Amino acid sequence: MPRLSSGKWIGSWALAEAEAGSDISSLKTVARQVAGGWVLKGKKQFIINGKVSKLVVVIAKTKMPNKKEGISAFVVEKCNGGVIIGNKDDKMGMRASEIGELIFKDCYVPSENVLGQTRTGISASDACARGRQNSHGRFRSRNC
Ligand SMILES: Cc1cc2nc3c(=O)[nH]c(=O)nc-3n(C[C@H](O)[C@H](O)[C@H](O)COP(=O)(O)OP(=O)(O)OC[C@H]3O[C@@H](n4cnc5c(N)ncnc54)[C@H](O)[C@@H]3O)c2cc1C
Repeated sequence: MPRLSSGKWIGSWALAEAEAGSDISSLKTVARQVAGGWVLKGKKQFIINGKVSKLVVVIAKTKMPNKKEGISAFVVEKCNGGVIIGNKDDKMGMRASEIGELIFKDCYVPSENVLGQTRTGISASDACARGRQNSHGRFRSRNC
């Protein structure tokens, strides 16, 4: 947190996918539970500062043995690997920040990096969205 709030690190928030924006239940990115943590797999799009951020909050479907599927939020530190920068998207205006794809390929996230608790990802995502006042192209410059 100190590195983010001081501006030393830039963060990004990764919810949107090709077939999941408003409808968060259609997410295809999955988090599979493994010893000591989770492995993320999926592709996100329209991610502001995805290329330059050090840390990404990723919203993914969690699959837990013998439990119902849920949606969870994970704090992914890019330096740990498994995050690939995909294509950059173009915009009609507001080009002050880059926007593009982030691909998670066998991206290991330790258990302590689950934001809140597993299966509370919808409220974590809502909190991010409220902070940003997202209205399709009109954003405050506040990252979550
Ligand atoms: C400039 C920009 C920056 C962005 N940055 C980020 C980012 O940093 N991180 C990130 O994760 N995402 C980002 N996004 C993506 C953003 O989260 C999605 O665009 C948003 O969630 C909407 O999803 P969608 O584009 O798939 O639209 P859709 O979900 O397909 O919605 C299309 C239209 O249908 C309406 N609609 C949807 N569902 C319903 C329903 N059930 N009933 C009635 N109407 C409905 C919507 O209100 C909208 O008008 C960004 C988008 C833009 C344009």
